[in-house]
Amino acid sequence: MDPKAQRAHCHQCPLKDAPFVPGDGPGTTGIVIVGRDPGAIEVMEGKPFVGQAGCLLTRELGEIGINRSSVHITNTALCHTEGNKKPSVRAVQACHDRLIGEIKQTGAKKVLALGETASRAVSDRSGAIAVLRLAGPLPSRFLGDDVAVRVTYHPAWVWRNWKKGHPLFASDIRTLLDPWAVTSEASASPENASI
Ligand code: URA
Repeated sequence: MDPKAQRAHCHQCPLKDAPFVPGDGPGTTGIVIVGRDPGAIEVMEGKPFVGQAGCLLTRELGEIGINRSSVHITNTALCHTEGNKKPSVRAVQACHDRLIGEIKQTGAKKVLALGETASRAVSDRSGAIAVLRLAGPLPSRFLGDDVAVRVTYHPAWVWRNWKKGHPLFASDIRTLLDPWAVTSEASASPENASI
C-alpha cells in the first residue's frame, strides 16, 4: 500500500504523532495476519511482530512450513500506544479503512486475527476468542464474501498463559493449511483473553 494512502486518515487519529510501523509482506499473498498494534521493539526495528510475541508467531508458522516472509503481517493500529495499552477506539477507527484496504490489496483469502482488538476490526463477530476461534471461518462485511477470517489468541496472551494457551494457539495456526470456507455463525460470551 502506498505510504500516502496508508496515512490518509492519520489527521483524525489521537496517535498521529506516535511512532508508525507499517505492515510487512511480499505484496501479493494468500494469508494476512493481523495483530493489535506495534510494541516498543517493533518501533525500534520498524517491522511488526519482531519482539517476543512475534518470535512465537514466527516459530509457530515455521512449525507448519510457512515462512513468515511469505505472509502479510500487519496491525489494527499502525502506531504504538504508550505504556503498551490497547489503542483507543478512536485510533482503531481512524486506522480501519487503511487496515481493510491493506488486506484487500494483498488479494488474500485468509485473514487470521490475533486477539480481540484485531478480531473486532476484521470480522462481523465480537466476543470471546475462546468462542470465536471454534466458530470456524467467520464472515466479514468489510472484506467481502470471498475472504474468510479466523480468530485466535494474541501471542502475547499465549506467552502469559503458556500451559493452556500454547496448544490452542499452535492448533489454530495449523488451520492455515486447511481450506477455509465461511460456514458458521458465532455467538459471543464473555472471557478474559482481552488484548
Ligand atoms: N503485538 C502486536 O499486536 N503487534 C505487533 O506488531 C507486535 C506485538
